[in-house]
Amino acid sequence: MAALLDKFGRPITDLRIAITDHCNYKCVYCRTGNEGALYRDLPIADYLRMAGVFAALGIKKVRLTGGEPLLRKGIVELVRDLAKLRSADGEPLELAITTNGHLLAEMAQPLKDAGLDRVTVSMDAVDRDRFARITRVPNGYDNVLAGIRAAKRAGLEPVKVNCVLLRGFNEDQIIPFGKFAREEGVVLRFIEFMPLEEDRVWSPDVVVTLDEILERMSEYLPLVEIPHARSETSRRYRFEDGLGEIGIIAPVSHPFCGHCSRIRVTSDGKIRTCLFSVWDHDLHAQMRRGATDAELEAFIREVVLHKEERHHIGEPDFIPASRTMVHIGG
Ligand code: SAM
Repeated sequence: MAALLDKFGRPITDLRIAITDHCNYKCVYCRTGNEGALYRDLPIADYLRMAGVFAALGIKKVRLTGGEPLLRKGIVELVRDLAKLRSADGEPLELAITTNGHLLAEMAQPLKDAGLDRVTVSMDAVDRDRFARITRVPNGYDNVLAGIRAAKRAGLEPVKVNCVLLRGFNEDQIIPFGKFAREEGVVLRFIEFMPLEEDRVWSPDVVVTLDEILERMSEYLPLVEIPHARSETSRRYRFEDGLGEIGIIAPVSHPFCGHCSRIRVTSDGKIRTCLFSVWDHDLHAQMRRGATDAELEAFIREVVLHKEERHHIGEPDFIPASRTMVHIGG
């Protein structure tokens, strides 16, 4: 079967499925602090069917996200069923989860046993008080640290830790994070802050850029760039002494839209072709009306064809995305 391509010739191989938009953290740069999820979660079986259709179209990686995916009952069984799927080339799918790590300590081993390959844990400070201020959850830090260590023990390696830096809030955590990555044996990924927050507080001044992160980290230890595949979103560096790796995902200062291989399904079953899409495409409505797998494939192919060429962050014609990050799935 022909690969899933958009009209710019980009192969789409990486699917992110949000399995809830409910979250137990209220990170200041993501959420307003409200309690509720906005959209209705679908039955787990519906996400599985969607993943199967995407796999038949040549998707190779599936990442479960949210909201907070570990809040969703049935996630272990979902991973077990996803692990049985094959991509169009007959290979098993690469399965990953992005989580805040709060519930990971107990779930890492069952998820690994079910067939999960890797986990990315979001963590925006390595200082307990700062962590609580960012997440607006008291005492979360120790749970997340226990989760990271449990994931390593379970063999969900390499464990990646995502950190979003905000100027005036946690940019002093750059070097402590470098030390943390080396001590804990995790791969660190700094992500530039994007205008996808519920509070609409984004401004270019708040973004701590790739160049600044590199400069600050080099004051701690010299870094050597690791060659990376063009489709990789992260620029990767190792510390010169060979211990520890960091990556920087820089969609604002160094956009990588030309190599984007991603597509997302929201927790209520809408396809989003870009984080910054101003509309979405209702895949679940097709399922509700009784579409066959072949019809779903045709629908997806048509949607993918019209994937946006690039985002317009920081440009005068920027139009905010129709959903914020927690309701898309990062
Ligand atoms: N709850 C899970 C977690 O905390 O990882 C998964 C969902 S969360 C929305 C996914 C990732 O998006 C997290 O690493 C988070 O830090 C990141 N994120 C949220 N809002 C962002 C923004 N405005 N810019 C950049 N990254 C953001």
